[in-house]
Amino acid sequence: MRKFFLFIFLYIILGGGQAQVNYNPLQEWIDEHSGAYVTLKLSSQEEVQKLLYTYSIERGDIKKIGDQYQVKVWLGQRDLPQFISENLPYEIDEESYLSPALTMATTMGQMSSWNRYPTYGLYLEMMQYYQSQYPNRCVLDTILLQTQLNHTILAAKIGRLDDGVENKPAFFYSATMHGDELCGYVLMLRLMDYMLTNQSNPIVSQILDQVDLYICPLENPDGTFPSNNNSVAGSIRYNAEGLDLNRSYPVAGYSQQPEPSLTEVAAMIDFIDRNQIMMAVNLHGGAELYNYPWDRYTTNQNPHPDRLWWLEIGNRFLDTVRAHSTYYYFTDQGGITNGGDWYVIYGSRLDCFNYYHQCRDATIEISSSKKTPSSYLPTYWNYLYRSLLNYVLEASYGIVGTVTDSLTHAPLEATVLIVAHDIQQTMVNSMLPSGKYHRPVAAGTYSVNFSAPGYHSKTFTVTVNSQTQQVLNVELAPINDAVDHWTLDRSIQLYPNPVKDLLCVRDRSEIVQKKQISIFNNLGAQIYQSDFDSETIEVEVSQHPAGVYYCVIQTETETVVRKFVKFR
Ligand SMILES: [Zn+2]
Repeated sequence: MRKFFLFIFLYIILGGGQAQVNYNPLQEWIDEHSGAYVTLKLSSQEEVQKLLYTYSIERGDIKKIGDQYQVKVWLGQRDLPQFISENLPYEIDEESYLSPALTMATTMGQMSSWNRYPTYGLYLEMMQYYQSQYPNRCVLDTILLQTQLNHTILAAKIGRLDDGVENKPAFFYSATMHGDELCGYVLMLRLMDYMLTNQSNPIVSQILDQVDLYICPLENPDGTFPSNNNSVAGSIRYNAEGLDLNRSYPVAGYSQQPEPSLTEVAAMIDFIDRNQIMMAVNLHGGAELYNYPWDRYTTNQNPHPDRLWWLEIGNRFLDTVRAHSTYYYFTDQGGITNGGDWYVIYGSRLDCFNYYHQCRDATIEISSSKKTPSSYLPTYWNYLYRSLLNYVLEASYGIVGTVTDSLTHAPLEATVLIVAHDIQQTMVNSMLPSGKYHRPVAAGTYSVNFSAPGYHSKTFTVTVNSQTQQVLNVELAPINDAVDHWTLDRSIQLYPNPVKDLLCVRDRSEIVQKKQISIFNNLGAQIYQSDFDSETIEVEVSQHPAGVYYCVIQTETETVVRKFVKFR
């Protein structure tokens, strides 16, 4: 291996005193290691935030030292031209490549103390082992059969697979989407093992009963094993194409989800849709904290509608961690943060899942080190496993029930929307074949609207307590044109939709009744409100930006919510 001078900036001094940074050592390092961590020193938070828009940076790798910000940036081959054009002095962070204590295991026996990293081959063997050993509790699901480097992305579904209960809330843990953040890889395998070998433990039993738990220990195998399937020492952040999986998801905030550009991302989106995953966690390393949505907005810009719920469940996770670890563990950003309040990033999985897929995904950073020495792995497990188990059950709390047809009692696929709350795609749907829905939400009183095409919608007032299930089973009556009189749901029409300038809201019922109309943008802000008792009201929307909006029409007895799209 070539030797480089560390912690010395290499300059070629040009005539006028303008220092030109020498990028040859960096180029050589990247050629040899499929990428490089470099350390930069910046003088303001604005400069750091600008860098985050361009490069792949784990937010835990930003350290404030005195007045300066020290930032560790991962650079792949394709980042180099841009990086060179910035002419920033850098140091290659060689320490990130010293991995003295990453002991590997090649047999199941060597994993008995959970203080080694399994080789890729052993990983596959372990996944297969759990499925064959516990066929009624564990079944494998292939997220992506073949990556560019010929690896497979797998998930195990764990639960009482033989109890015949359909549509339990589906919870998904995954680790190591940044291939060099290794701790979660072993912790997730160990969580599978714990679930399957401690089935009489009360909390394990409760999870098996109530939740379908999916676990993917290795979300980016190409990054963890880029050149050698028998060692994690050479693991890198990116996938084989040199891209950061957690910056490559469709960006949240559009009326329609942009096409995913990476195979791994498309496969993962397909997986969570196919299994109707309603809650998820992606585990990282490089910091120690719980990170809830959004990643692309600060709380001031756009608080998540369920912010109180995120704080409630995040703090429960944190409290249990604190009770079982040392005082300095899990303290970055106070241990819990909205992603954007930490630093704003675009294209995170969390934003995409939450915004487009009704999946409540959080990022949990579990170890300050990325390539965690293998001997520390049992310590992290002891710090975390109780919190990891308890957190799964959060998916089972809140408002739950079934939605059925009032005449046939057939289960329905209905939209369950909390009025004037679910304004950023946070509504849930009841699922087939059972008609069940699960709506975790912070303790409080809510107005919940149930609607399905061809049915009269209904709205109920529901009070929910913390960590309990509030059961609300709903029957919706089919619309029968020959018999039914006008209801608000049937009579309200919005047009044109999409709209550019003038939105018309029409009540076709010809019944004179007092109605209130409110319009919310998709950031949750009310942008219009008025009363009307005429047939039609026109609302000028030309001054508002393009995007998705919600129109709520209320009478004394009924509430109707309609979505519309404003274009430029
Ligand atoms: Zn990460």
